[in-house]
Amino acid sequence: MSIRLEPEKCIGCGRCADVCPGNLLVLEAGRAQLRDARDCWGCTACVKACPRAAICYTLEASLGGAGGRLYAEDRQETLTWVLRLADGEEQRITVEKHQANDY
Ligand code: SF4
Ligand code: SF4
Repeated sequence: MSIRLEPEKCIGCGRCADVCPGNLLVLEAGRAQLRDARDCWGCTACVKACPRAAICYTLEASLGGAGGRLYAEDRQETLTWVLRLADGEEQRITVEKHQANDY
């Protein structure tokens, strides 16, 4: 599984459920749940949509990611990817949205 929910941060806004192309996210008891992790293809739409960083993309140690977690901060003009490594180190990459196709 590449997506991980952090339910203690979730405010139940439903934005993740609205953008998931596979309809995999549902709200239960006011918090988002991933219905079946095996069906998630890691598009990261839900990661970018969440206003509380309650969903991250996990970089599995078995794939060379050392257990890091990737969060997104989606702003009007920019998208910032925040990588938190298992040892606590944090790296940030900010992309200007109007230049997104240049990368
Ligand atoms: S990563 Fe994509 S497919 Fe997986 S739960 Fe999020 S929005 Fe749905
Ligand atoms: S977008 Fe984030 S805060 Fe909103 S329901 Fe989904 S996980 Fe919870």
